[in-house]
Amino acid sequence: MKYVYSFSKERVEGDRGMKELLGGKGANLAEMAGLGLPVPPGFTCTTEACDAYYKLGRTKLFAAMKPEIEAALKRLEKVTGKTFGKGPNPLLLSVRSGAAVSMPGMMDTVLNLGLTPSTIKALIETSGNERFVLDSYRRFIQMFGDVVMGVDHHAFERELEAVKKSRRTKLDTDLTVKDLAELIERYKKVYKKATSKPFPTNPMEQLMAGIDAVFRSWNTSRAAKYRELNDIRGLLGTAVNVQTMVFGNSGANSATGVAFTRDPSTGDNKYFYGEYLVNAQGEDVVAGIRTPQEITLKGSRAWAKSQGVSEKDRKAKFPSLEEVMPKAFKELDRIRVRLEKHYKDMQDLEFTIENGKLYILQTRNGKRTAKAAVRIATDLAKEKLITEKQAVLSVDPASLDQLLHPVFVKASEDKAQQIAVGLPASPGAATGQVVFTAEDAEAWAAKGKRVILCRTETSPEDIGGMDAAAGILTSRGGMTSHAAVVARGMGRCCVAGVGDVNINYATKRFTCSGVTIKEGDWISLNGSIGAVYKGQIETVDPSLTGPFGTIMKLADKYRKLGVRTNADTPHDAAVAVKFGAEGIGLCRTEHMFFEGHRIVSFRRLILVAETVKDLREDHGVEDLTALQKAVSKDKKAVDAIKQYKQALRELLPLQRKDFVGIFKALKGRPCTVRLLDPPLHEFLPQDADGQKEMAETMGVKPIEIKRLVEALHEFNPMLGHRGCRLGITYPDVTEMQTRAICEAAVAVKGSKPEIMIPLVGHVKELANQKAIVERTIADVEQKKGVKLNVLIGTMIEVPRAAVTADEIAKEAEFFSFGTNDLTQMGCGFSRDDAGKFLKDYVALGIYEKDPFQMLDQAGVGKLVELACTGGRKTRKDLKLGICGEHGGEPSSIGFCHNVGLDYVSCSPYRVPIARLSAAQAAIRG
Ligand code: PEP
Ligand code: MG
Repeated sequence: MKYVYSFSKERVEGDRGMKELLGGKGANLAEMAGLGLPVPPGFTCTTEACDAYYKLGRTKLFAAMKPEIEAALKRLEKVTGKTFGKGPNPLLLSVRSGAAVSMPGMMDTVLNLGLTPSTIKALIETSGNERFVLDSYRRFIQMFGDVVMGVDHHAFERELEAVKKSRRTKLDTDLTVKDLAELIERYKKVYKKATSKPFPTNPMEQLMAGIDAVFRSWNTSRAAKYRELNDIRGLLGTAVNVQTMVFGNSGANSATGVAFTRDPSTGDNKYFYGEYLVNAQGEDVVAGIRTPQEITLKGSRAWAKSQGVSEKDRKAKFPSLEEVMPKAFKELDRIRVRLEKHYKDMQDLEFTIENGKLYILQTRNGKRTAKAAVRIATDLAKEKLITEKQAVLSVDPASLDQLLHPVFVKASEDKAQQIAVGLPASPGAATGQVVFTAEDAEAWAAKGKRVILCRTETSPEDIGGMDAAAGILTSRGGMTSHAAVVARGMGRCCVAGVGDVNINYATKRFTCSGVTIKEGDWISLNGSIGAVYKGQIETVDPSLTGPFGTIMKLADKYRKLGVRTNADTPHDAAVAVKFGAEGIGLCRTEHMFFEGHRIVSFRRLILVAETVKDLREDHGVEDLTALQKAVSKDKKAVDAIKQYKQALRELLPLQRKDFVGIFKALKGRPCTVRLLDPPLHEFLPQDADGQKEMAETMGVKPIEIKRLVEALHEFNPMLGHRGCRLGITYPDVTEMQTRAICEAAVAVKGSKPEIMIPLVGHVKELANQKAIVERTIADVEQKKGVKLNVLIGTMIEVPRAAVTADEIAKEAEFFSFGTNDLTQMGCGFSRDDAGKFLKDYVALGIYEKDPFQMLDQAGVGKLVELACTGGRKTRKDLKLGICGEHGGEPSSIGFCHNVGLDYVSCSPYRVPIARLSAAQAAIRG
């Protein structure tokens, strides 16, 4: 096996297509050398070598690879005219790591490798610059010690500070030859003390130790964590780039810098963005000791303005590269244009100027914010550097989140103190004062305060407070918990399941990571990454026009999937339409009962429903008025029927009003309304206050309410009396809801309601509910003298329904996949409790990702495919959609495209993400 690949103008073994083998850096260095750009020559040890390092062990690999390295060194000596480890013209090297994907978690750079007492002497003679050579040596000892041998860098910095202090100077550049010589001796002592060995003077030993350290760095916990966090999988390892040193620190005519061909934070292309330092080596630019200067004059003036630096001072102290080294600048600018044209993307460059001569040390597609990504994609398409399809593919759909919500000012977030991390339940940024009850959230917000509502978990009673809060934090619950689902629907920032947060409602405080947060203290939440910070962080608002609008238009041009939204209020529907939703794919009607006083009517209904059902069975009478007559002597029974009727009477107009509002907001777009599907425990008054309130409303004793609540208690409510099971046992609810939907459709011309029966597992369940729905539609049509065109369909969210889809389709005009429940029941993971162990499952690689977030295509996906095939076998024109949380997740959307769904439906703020993901899936084919 070949482990070492050379790159130089004279001999290039590789190109940009070989990232997997040579790493991103190595592949691009080879590519640039092939283009004839001024790249210092070198060679790359492959990722296969790294793989072998772990599989065969260090000794075996090095025995096989060393002869190749020696041969590559010979070639390098030939093209550079220098010799490794010897004078008169010694060859010095840099050693860097570079995987196929850029990974800041791995080893940093070691520069100036090959410096030994004899090469130092030779170099001083050839360069005539002793200071430069000693400065390079002290840097080498520190970097080699820190990066290769793990010596604490503070130990070196303490010595540097001590020498500077004794010379009364602040700048490294002020140190003289004598000072540097002293520093080198001090550094050597630090090295020896920490490693129990003298600093190596054999250059080959230095080089092999450097390569060894790079391979080792691939498997440090820091690198593994980075890969885990960034979903980097399936790589062999890192490559090692060994490159001839060029010196940006060899005097006033030398410099080093980094540059972006376009602005990485905004995508602007007004001037060449980048920074440099005269007489410096790479690490000085990022170390923050000296202030890096702008490359262009324009950029320099803009910088000076933002910093309040006068033009005179700017010119004297911080001039641009364009002014200081105009020739090198011109060449760099030409290379910028050439590289962007060649790579057809924004590039991130590293360069060094040695005695006036420019070298390019690295190029790669530059990292960018979502804002810049969208801008760069649309600009490059306009400039015809890329096609429209390439522009659509170049933006990461998930990153669009950043553009739809207020976000933190990055610099402020970077400075903030993070105290915990939870699930990124609902994106955006929020900063506010902590409150612990929904009532307080509403009361404080009414006084104009910004609040963060902190709860162990939320329930329907909290809805007002959730709406009033800028953000929501819960210490329990997963991505489909009440807090998460409701917050996403509202577009409210939410971090859920923050296990480290211990909330004490009695003392109104929570503790976390040794920090105590009291009511009224400021905290900040980043719902896009799940971070919780102490204190206030500055936020900025989103803008939906410009390049964002352009990329959305392009997405719509190429996508085949329809995109609908999950929305339960006119406000959410309107927001989603603004984001491009083509209708509602899931209107959860039980959520409508969360608001204000409605919960009381709803509770009245469910608390007496069971009694009414028993009475019907006992007396064999269906009609409620007739039943009331039949039981007229039993006051309790009469009362229950009255309460039941009253609740239905109260709820009908409220529901109708809701639907009128939603249909109006949709302006003729279709609306799939799901009939009632409440896990009952979320709605019952569990606490004494709630029970007292219901007792007063219903004119009974609190103890009676308590008994009723207990009687309705379920051990497993998520698999209990919910969905169509409720409609089957309490048919009046199905009838009332259908009536409300139909009457609203009559009131709002052009509305297109679709009625969806939830949690069906058996076709007979669907047939039962469908009969009530059809009967009610006919009744409204007859009474109003209109013809309504209402589709009737079902959710596929119970595995039994998926495997009997051909049967189900006999009764259903459409299927909508409820992949939240389908995952719960398909994988056998409780939606409420699985959060506790799923993290471990993901860490162990049992599931690639939390299956409630990313569809488990191999398992749950099979059920979806089965249902699509079965359903369409029975009914060719069966409409197919998805309304589980996966409808807004990019890879799951790709799956939906591939299995031929007609649309996806997701929360309003995910609509743009779904549009772009659908387009990407269609383009990829
Ligand atoms: C589902 O189960 O996927 C679904 C959309 O319904 P809910 O989350 O309301 O159970
Ligand atoms: Mg469901």
